[in-house]
Parts: sequence; C-alpha cells; structure tokens
Amino acid sequence: MDDKLTAAILIVSTTAAEDPSTDASASVLRGVLAEDGQGKWEVRGEGIVSDNVLAIQRQITQWTDGPDPPSLIITTGGTGFAVSDGTPEAVGPLLHKHASGLVHAMLATSLAVTPFAMMSRPIAGVRNTSLIVTLPGSPKGAKENLQAIIKTLPHACLQASGANSRALHAGGVQKLESEAGISSETTHHHHHEHDHSHGHQHHHHHHDAGHHGHGHGHGSLVRHTNASADAKALSNDPALGPTRRHRESPYPMLSVQDALALISEHTPSAEAHTCRVNEEMVGSVLAEDVTAAENVPAFRASIVDGYAIVVPKDGVVRGVFPVTAVFHAAPGDTQPLQEGQVARITTGAPLPPGATSVIMVEDTVLKSMTPDGLEEHEVEIQVEECVKEGENIREVGSDIAQGDVILHRGEQISGVGGEIGLLAAVGVSEARVFRRPTVGILSTGDEIVEHDRREPPLRLGEVRDTNRITLISAVREWGFGVLDLGIAKDKPGTLESKLRDGLRRADVLITTGGVSMGELDLLKPTIERALGGTIHFGRVAMKPGKPTTFATVSVKDNSGQRVTKVIFSLPGNPASALVTFHLFVLPSLHKMAGVTPRGLPKVPVVLAHDFPMDPRPEYHRAVVTVGSDGVLTASTTGGQRSSKVGSLRAANALVCVPSGEGKLDRGFKAEALLMSAVRRT
Ligand code: AMP
Ligand code: MG
Repeated sequence: MDDKLTAAILIVSTTAAEDPSTDASASVLRGVLAEDGQGKWEVRGEGIVSDNVLAIQRQITQWTDGPDPPSLIITTGGTGFAVSDGTPEAVGPLLHKHASGLVHAMLATSLAVTPFAMMSRPIAGVRNTSLIVTLPGSPKGAKENLQAIIKTLPHACLQASGANSRALHAGGVQKLESEAGISSETTHHHHHEHDHSHGHQHHHHHHDAGHHGHGHGHGSLVRHTNASADAKALSNDPALGPTRRHRESPYPMLSVQDALALISEHTPSAEAHTCRVNEEMVGSVLAEDVTAAENVPAFRASIVDGYAIVVPKDGVVRGVFPVTAVFHAAPGDTQPLQEGQVARITTGAPLPPGATSVIMVEDTVLKSMTPDGLEEHEVEIQVEECVKEGENIREVGSDIAQGDVILHRGEQISGVGGEIGLLAAVGVSEARVFRRPTVGILSTGDEIVEHDRREPPLRLGEVRDTNRITLISAVREWGFGVLDLGIAKDKPGTLESKLRDGLRRADVLITTGGVSMGELDLLKPTIERALGGTIHFGRVAMKPGKPTTFATVSVKDNSGQRVTKVIFSLPGNPASALVTFHLFVLPSLHKMAGVTPRGLPKVPVVLAHDFPMDPRPEYHRAVVTVGSDGVLTASTTGGQRSSKVGSLRAANALVCVPSGEGKLDRGFKAEALLMSAVRRT
C-alpha cells in the first residue's frame, strides 16, 4: 500500500456548473482525503457538471473507461428527492458491482447525526476498476459521509483494481483493520472514536441479514457474484408483461446535437483495405495518398497530325522532303529519323527516335506520290519562322510524372469527377481505401407483410412493408452495401435471432418499428438484455423521430476479435424512418467510410410559404428548387404527420424548423439539409 491511490471528484450542481466559484464541496472533500486519508490519496481529476444524467455519465465513463482510470470517484450533489436530483440514477446503470455496505456505512453515520439522512439516496459500487461513491451535496453531509468510509476505501479500491485478493487477505481481518487504522468496534463511528457505549456486538447487528455469512467480516465490500446484464438495462423486462412496463420512457430526451455527438463518439473509426481500381471503387474514400505508377505520357508523343522532323541547327525547315516512315498509334517502324527526312505522324502517336519537332499537316503540301498512287512520296514544307525543338511534342511525364501524388488521402472517388480515370491513366490498379460498411436492414412488427404480396389481400391490421424497400434504396443511393434481413415478428426470440444474424453479417443494423412505448416494442429490451448491447440514447427531441434509438454491441468477428457493431432502431412510421436515416444513420456510415464532411449538406433556403413551428425542432420534408436568380426556395411536400407516406414523394430536402410557437413566415431565410440534387423550377 505504498503507492498512492488516485481519486477524482465530480461536483454535480447546475449552479456550480454555471459558476464554479459557488462550489464549496470540492475543497472540503480534498481536505478529507488529505487529512483523514493517511496520505494514501492523490486527487487526479476534478469535474463539474450540471444535474444532468447524461452529463454525469459522460464524465464518469470518461474516467472509468479511459486510460489510467482513477481508483476512486466521489460525486457530490444530486442525491436528494428534488426533481433535478438524478445522480444515483446516472451512476446506478454504470455500476458493474454494487457496494451496499458502503451505502449502509454512510447512511448509518448520517442517521446518527440527523434523521434527515433518510432523505439522502446514496449509491456506491464498482465500474471497471474504479470505485464510485455518491455523496450528498452539502459540504457538511459530504464530509461526514466520506469520513465514514474513507478508511476502508484503500482496501476496496485495491480489490476493485484487480489486486490479488488472497494476498490482501493473508493476515486476516485483524491485519486489514489495523492497516486501515480501524477496528471492528469503531467501523462506522470512527469520528467518535472513543464512544464505546454501543459495545462490540453493535456492528454486526446493524447490518441487514443479506450481508452476513461470506466470512470476511467486514461488511459487504466484496461481492463475488457478477452483476447481471440486467443491472444496467433501462428498458422493460418483457417477461414481466404489460402491467409492469414503463408508462413513460426511462430514456432521457436528448437534443439532436447531443444525439449526433454520441453517434460520432461511438461509431467505429474508418478501416482501410486494399481494393482493385474498378467501378466498384466509386464512392470510396482514399486511405492513403496515391502516386502515379507510370509517366503520362509514357512516351514522347505528337500533339498534332503532321510530319516529325529533325530540326536543323539554323531552324530553317523549308523545301521538299522524302516521307520515309509512317507513325500511327502503334508504330511498327522504329528506324531513327535523319535530318532532311520526314515521318508522317498522327496525333498521340509516338515520335520516331531522333525526331525533335513536328510540323502540322496544315503547313505542308503533297509534292509527289508513290507509283501506285497510294502513298505519299515527298511533301513540301512551307514554314516562314524558325522551327524550334520540342514543338508540338508532349514529352515523357509532362502531364504527370511517375511518383507524383495524384490523389490525396481523404479524397472520394466519384463517379463523375474523373478520379477513377486518373487512376487508370497512371497505371494504378489497386489502392488503399476505407472499407464501406454493409448495412443490414430489418423491419419489425407482427402486422408488417411483404410489400408485394398479392394473395391474400390485406387483412385487418396488416401493413405493407414500406420501410425496408425505402431504406434499402436510400442506403444503396448513398453508396453503401445492403443486406436484406426481412421482417421480424414481435417475439423476443425471433427478433433476437434476426438481430444476431444481422450482427454476424453486417457492420451496421437498421431496424424500424418496435421502439415506441407499446408492450410489443421489443427492440430496446432485446438489445440490452439479450444482446448485451449499450443503448446510448433512446429518445430525441425532434419531429418526426422522437423514439430514435442508437446502440452499440460488442461482438466477436470471424477471427475471434472483438468488434463494435452499431444498431439504429428507427421509428416505424415511414416518414420518421426516412428522416432519421438521413439525420442519424448517414453521418455514422460516413464516419465508418471516412467520408467528410459527414451527413447531409446544409444550404440556406428561402421559404416559399409559411411553415408552422412545433415545440420540438422539426425536420420538414420539402422540395428545394433553384430559380433563374440562383436562389434556393423550399416548399413543403404536404402533411407532415409521421405516418404520412405521401409526404415522402418528391422530397429532396429537410427544412430545419427550430422549436417555437407560431410560424416561420414566407420569405424567411431558413436552413435545409439536402438529400438529393436541387431541382429546377
Ligand atoms: P411501432 O413503433 O412498431 O409501433 O410502429 C409505428 C407505426 O409504424 C405503426 O403504425 C406501424 O404499423 C408502422 N410501421 C412499422 N414498421 C413499418 C414498415 N416497415 N412499413 C410501414 N409501416 C410500418
Ligand atoms: Mg411495431
């Protein structure tokens, strides 16, 4: 125990987040760690976040899941009953092991001081190798609680960090206690150290029965059972049925911006691979600079149709010359040309050896023919000025020299910009590009039937699968590979096996349906409980698309390596599905494929008519046209109800209508996200 243990302090307070000078707890806690911590603690990190579940989780996981995690994280604030108090709710789902013994110790200490300690809801436990303890927000309460447990913390932290527990326990409980500077009598009364009035037995009787019997005799610091996957799941447990389901989503409502930030953070980075230069390469982004494998042109070539000559010293080329050879694209005769001779040559053909210039055919007249009248025998050249060497000749490598960088890392191979032609011209047959992800697409719902089913006709409640074919087309249109996963029934087992199949074969899964609040909405529970995935968000403040869900699952690939796969569970309504695909899935696909900038391009537009506003920011399906003045104008595609299939027609853009009351007036300058090319009026 010679080495220092590291600690981090997180202040949870909306007031302190706005004005750090209002915080009084951090210095108090530093004081306790320094004075009561027997010199064992070094405070490495400190953070302040507002009373926001995600902000708390973000800071804590940054510490616990990052390199060199601290042994101890103490939070202060947000443990009460006020509406904004959510620290235990933020920390709870992060814990891999709960440490109820620490909670008991803290509560017992505070209760001895005031019955109002009942109003504190502390939580403690281990995530990865860090011990996390939530302290109350008041400096006095925080201090008391930390003092109540501080002497046992080094031992707990060492175990949590994976120290050999046999070695730690070798000397028995007494040795542990004496090292920690505590004894059984004073475990939770150490700051009244001389108060022995409760007697020795006291300690054991005040613990609830569940914590007896594991033989270590020091509370419930050690838990030998694994926390189940359920411990961190927020979703419904489908086995409990509709009466026990959440009636309001337990997932915090995120802003679109925060949702995009989480997608960007949790989407795997682009991976390079080697691909052949062919049409399939179109859409890929280069992972490395590409250099020319060959010179262009690869040989000295004529720029004109005419006659190759050897320029005399004085540059005077006038008179009648014998035509000694003919050079077409692929010449046969490669005799060196002599001064006084000319060789007929076509545009692009290689020059005969020795030739130093080319006279254009326009500057010559035919003088005589061969006896059969089929070939030129002599031509007369009539050039007034001096002829210079190199005229009308493309020298080797004069367009592109071998070894020149012709395309840079990060450039995308378009189907129209000529990049693929450039690669072809310089003899590059393979290139390193970022692998484009394959997207598995699954529809869910007992009511969903194949879109092209003819017989039997639709029965009551049946709905034709609109989303799958729409998303398959959209994913292809954006240049990514598609895996059609069909339709899954609303049965936990079916959904799970379809998802597992998809996770094996695709990099990204898109599901639609089953993310609302219905009892058959199984996506979230299946991802969390069956697949052990992490749901990064399950609700977004937007219209349409509120229940959009983003998760990652760690799976083994074919070579047994752990890889992260991404799941987007989009709402079932076709308009919502298409909007959220463009808004959330596309940037993720772009990240994986190395495409920058990510997501739809944003352009300024003028509104052709009033657009109503909603309390949620809205992505309004619209047609953007360009007028003869070059101005982009946006008009709605009609009713925006998320179930309205007709509103998809002709939409090439999403107008970003900010949240608010009233409307945006006709003529207002708004922003629009372009899904496809601008139309002409
Ligand atoms: P859910 O979230 O599963 O309750 O779906 C919301 C709505 O979208 C319901 O009316 C579903 O019938 C509809 N829906 C779900 N999936 C599809 C689909 N693939 N094609 C068309 N409508 C769908
Ligand atoms: Mg459904």
